[in-house]
Amino acid sequence: MISSEKRAIIDKVKDAGVVGAGGAGFPTYIKIDNQADTIIANIAECEPLLYKDKEIVRNYPLDVISGIKTVMEVTGAKKGIIGIKKKYKNVIEALERNITKNISIFPLGDYYPAGDEIVLTYDVTGKIVPEGEIPLKVGILVSNAETLYNISKAVKSIPVTKKFITISGAIKKPMTLRVPVGTTIKEIMEILKVKYENLTIFLDGLMMGEVAKNIHTSVTKRTSGIILLPSNHPVVLKRTRDVKYDIRIIKSACDQCSYCTEFCPRYLIGHSVEPHRVMRSLSLSNTESFSSIYAQGCVECSLCTLFACPEELSPDIIMKKSLQDGKKFEQVASKKGVHPMREFRKVPSTKLLKRLSIENYNNPALLSDLIIEPDEVRLPLMQHIGEPAKPIKLEGDKVIVGELIAETEKDKPGTKIHASISGTIAEINETEIIISSRRLLS
Ligand code: SF4
Ligand code: SF4
Repeated sequence: MISSEKRAIIDKVKDAGVVGAGGAGFPTYIKIDNQADTIIANIAECEPLLYKDKEIVRNYPLDVISGIKTVMEVTGAKKGIIGIKKKYKNVIEALERNITKNISIFPLGDYYPAGDEIVLTYDVTGKIVPEGEIPLKVGILVSNAETLYNISKAVKSIPVTKKFITISGAIKKPMTLRVPVGTTIKEIMEILKVKYENLTIFLDGLMMGEVAKNIHTSVTKRTSGIILLPSNHPVVLKRTRDVKYDIRIIKSACDQCSYCTEFCPRYLIGHSVEPHRVMRSLSLSNTESFSSIYAQGCVECSLCTLFACPEELSPDIIMKKSLQDGKKFEQVASKKGVHPMREFRKVPSTKLLKRLSIENYNNPALLSDLIIEPDEVRLPLMQHIGEPAKPIKLEGDKVIVGELIAETEKDKPGTKIHASISGTIAEINETEIIISSRRLLS
């Protein structure tokens, strides 16, 4: 039975609308309502050209540490471990000055994908998360830097209305910014005076992110960055290819060399992810009936496609397709354990940058003190895992920043959404709430 003090903290995290800020947007109040032995702060930030987690810790070490302590208190964890790349020496020093004796620092190597929570859990604790499970199964709760920062604010009843994002790639001055949730890419580009017409815009990274649908797409609570690349860059050409083309060339050109599997981080940890087997099945059947049994633990890191495959094929597209098709999870019989060559097959970030031809864009993106005040924000009702939030305001209502405007129905998993700017609710549609500051009346 959880104490009333712990319940009060969980409720504050729920009321502040905190969701996982480094990935899928899992509601944090559900995640921390569990028992754990150890909390791992995930500051691996392995996605190339993104730096916002490192910048949060560099600028706000006390808030992140406070978030760790809160989660330790709620979950009963006796230990907190900060997993951070050892190359960030000054950030580690800032943390060391402020940690208490039940929190330690684990210096990570600079490789990709060090931030995958299954990989991180193993590297930091030596524990293997069983296939199809999350780290809590082995007593570990993993939370990223920004989520921990948001937890520290939630305890003080400050809701999530802003988002840290890195803006990098083919721009003059890469930077990390704090923008109101719901700010559109267009507005950010205009404020920063970035000419984006001949550039392709990626959201959340080149490896695990995707090409932005359009310039009106907005920053959500889980957006980690905006990366711009010239539209004729090899990564853009590969990432914008027609899926049908990818399927066709895999069927004819996959020579079953198995490099995609040999570098797969989930395969190397002993899970039964084997992309070359899925490619073989696809080659021998069709897109509806191929076997995806060896795809189900794929973390969609894209290493197989953007690093490993010598034939320039896209096995990750097929892995993602079978995951999206929702093929039933089947337990694969053999459990191999950690691969003996795992340490030697880790992909160093420098090699990955080279393979992606983006070394020239790898510049620091320090946190800027620029204040972004958009005229309008578009707040999606679904920016998290669970049920969508439902508006509790009407078009024409005036709102002030931090005011609750939408929430998921009681007893259903989801989150709360707060106004990220002061203004008037200009539009409510099926997918989003638009607030305009231009229409703010006195
Ligand atoms: S690395 Fe490429 S060619 Fe080799 S098995 Fe995988 S998909 Fe086929
Ligand atoms: S995207 Fe490729 S390398 Fe990454 S986990 Fe999936 S199969 Fe493995």
